[in-house]
Formats: sequence, structure tokens, C-alpha cells
Amino acid sequence: MHYISTRDASLRALLSEAIARGIAPDGGLYVPGEFPHFNTRQFDGLNELPEIAERLLAPFFEGDALASELGAICREAFHFPAPLVTLDQAPQPASVLELFHGPTSAFKDFGACFLAATMERIRRNAPRKLTILVATSGDTGGAVAAAFHNKPWVDVAVLYPKGLVSERQAQQLACWGGNVRTFAVNGTFDECQRMVKEAFLDPALQESHQLSSANSINVGRLLPQMVYYAKSSLELWRQLGRRPNYIIPTGNLGNAMACVWARHVGMPIGEIVLATNANQTITDFLRSGEWQPRPSVATLASAMDVGNPSNMERLRSLHPEFDELQGQLGASSVDDIEIRGTLRRDSHELNRIWCPHTATAAKVYRRMLSRGARGHWVIVSTAHPAKFNDIVEPQTGQEIPVPPALAKLLSLPRQEKELEPTLSALRTQLQQA
Ligand SMILES: *Cc1c(COP(=O)(O)O)cnc(C)c1O
Repeated sequence: MHYISTRDASLRALLSEAIARGIAPDGGLYVPGEFPHFNTRQFDGLNELPEIAERLLAPFFEGDALASELGAICREAFHFPAPLVTLDQAPQPASVLELFHGPTSAFKDFGACFLAATMERIRRNAPRKLTILVATSGDTGGAVAAAFHNKPWVDVAVLYPKGLVSERQAQQLACWGGNVRTFAVNGTFDECQRMVKEAFLDPALQESHQLSSANSINVGRLLPQMVYYAKSSLELWRQLGRRPNYIIPTGNLGNAMACVWARHVGMPIGEIVLATNANQTITDFLRSGEWQPRPSVATLASAMDVGNPSNMERLRSLHPEFDELQGQLGASSVDDIEIRGTLRRDSHELNRIWCPHTATAAKVYRRMLSRGARGHWVIVSTAHPAKFNDIVEPQTGQEIPVPPALAKLLSLPRQEKELEPTLSALRTQLQQA
């Protein structure tokens, strides 16, 4: 399979190259040049994430040097589960897809672990050490740090906006040491992202470092995210004989894009509905057809505070006609007052403690029901609520038990440096190492 740039189909790359580059040479994003098509029978007898991953992703690895290692990559990357839990107190049959059982308790662990497993093999005989730069609004940085920590072939620099992530997220970003360096930037997430982009274009850094990125634009993060949609939809399809619908908390559109691709290749997925927070770039676009990126606004679901969701470029390349695109997805926006209300209400009525991001999807679920939606709905749960205890506990009035993986990270000393939001400050730090 060839991957092509969203901006120029003649810019082709095999998977390894697309992963190593992160972004296409013309600034576009890599997407599959053609999609395979499956029928559900091709997954008969397959029940676990690694084996479903191997079957689903085989065509995406075709022709690449990594193809022979796909099985090993899948077993290494999918080392934690993505359980589908019945929401038995829901007003209508529904399930929760729990994506928070990885090392840093958020769905970003799937992409980060898979990326680490592929990059390790791509870099096996490389003469230079790789430096991964990652700008994070909270969860990506921790997942990437966890996945690449102590790997001898790579250094990681994590940039996060100081004071704009939860206390426990900050701890997860800064507890690593070793080959991971964490920078608390005196600025916003957008500024962190700008610094990373500028670093890639900086001649001095290009000379001194072999830079790479691990942000959600990397196709190596999207592919593994298709796998939990495949597994959960097959499971419900086999049980119920109908296609489940998904509600996905959405920021940069990476998680939902993977669901769209999973449906596109034939997985039994019905409707896909995006739940956004008060950042309404996507919801406005799906209503009006006008794409108007804007600065992000801060919300309680901070990992979704994205004003210019970059994966929209991939969605638009899959469905260039707006009418067609509009028919593929629903979207609904949830504000902070509704997030708080949903955290409170669902802790009583559904006996579920959500994270603030998942609460947007749970709110949209109720909205869909009140508008008469039918079918089986899956609420996608993107993070464990214990990561956001400072927001959730005051609403639910209950202390959230901390999962063991998270407890271990919280007990480690914090190691970070403050950084001004400029390229030169970052360059100085990187070149000191
Ligand atoms: C990153 C993140 C999201 C948003 O996912 P996108 O792929 O950016 O749309 C939602 N919830 C949590 C907890 C996240 O970390």
C-alpha cells in the first residue's frame, strides 16, 4: 500500500517512510492511497486486540519492510485491553468503550505504543539517535513519554502549557527523567505546537538533531486506533446482529478519524457522532460547510481544546464533496455547565464516573435519545476520571480510586524545566543535552 499526501496524490510513501516523516513534504497529511475492503466473516474466530489488529492492518503494511513484523508489533503494542462495558442503567441499551487501561490512563496510549513499536524497528540500523518533539495539551505527552521511556535509540522532549493541564496530567508529563525531558512552557498549547513546528524548520536544529514528531498527525497513531473500533463493533455485531453507533469525544479528530476509516474498510459501524466541547470549529463546519479555524478556548475537557483540528484535512480528502461528508458524521457541542451537570447526574443515575471528556459524549448520548435516536449506542470513554479528580470529584462528591498504573506515576519525583515560548529557548535547551 502507498500513502499519499492529502494535498498532492503524487507524493507517495510506503508506511515506514510515512511514519518516519510524520508529515508529507508539502505539509499535507499522509492517508492511504487506496483502502482495502473487508467483510465481517474475515474476522471469524478472532476475538483479541492483537489478532484483530494483525488481520485488519495487514493491507496497510503491504509492500513495506515492516510487513513481516506486523504480528510482533501488534502483540507488543496491544498489551492492555479496551473493554466494552454494558451500561445497564441506561435509558436505552448502550455500552461504554473504555480506552483508559493503558500506562497513562488515556486512549493516547494505543497510538503511542504502536508508534514506539514501529519506530523502534524502522530505526534499528539507523546511525543517529532520534529526537522526538511532542507538544501536548495534556494526554499525548504522557503517553508518548511512557511508550518511549528508556529506549536507547531515542530522546523525547515534551512541551506542555504550564498551568493549563490537570495536576495529575502534569505529574504524568514530568515524572520520567532519563531520555525524556519535560518542558513547562510559559504559554498556550498553540504556542507549544508552534515551537515544535518551527524547530522542524530550523536549520541549526536540523543539523544537530534527527528530529521526529509523535503528534496525532502521524499515520502510525491513527492505524492502531482503528483496531478498538473493529473489535468492539464486531463484538456487538455478533451479539446483536446490528451495527452499533459511536459517540466520540473529539478535539483534533484523530480518534474519530480512525473510526471513520474502520467503517470505510467494512467494519460493522453505524452512525458516528462527534462530541465536542465549547470549541465549535467542527460543529460549525458540519452545519454550514464553512471551515473557519479559530483560537482555542479553555474548557473542562482540556484535551479537546482545539480550534484548528488538523485531521479535518484527512476527512475532507476522504469525502471531498461537502454534502457527502455531512452525511457521514453527526456532531454536537457540550459546554462546561453541561459537562458538570452530566458528571453529577450520571454518577447518580447511571452509576458511572466519567472523565470530563467522556462526559461530553455521555451528554450527547442523552441528547440523541431525547431526539428519538434508536439503535445501540457506544459511548467512547477516552480517559480515566482519576486523571481529572480536581474537576470530577467536586461534582460527584465521591473520591475516585486511582488505578495502579497511575498511582505508580504519581509517586515519582517531578523533573521539568520552565521554558519561554520561543524557538530560541527550545533550541538552547535541546543543544545543551
Ligand atoms: C486527546 C483526547 C481527546 C481528543 O481526541 P482527538 O483525537 O484529538 O479528537 C479526547 N479525550 C481525551 C481524554 C484525550 O486525551
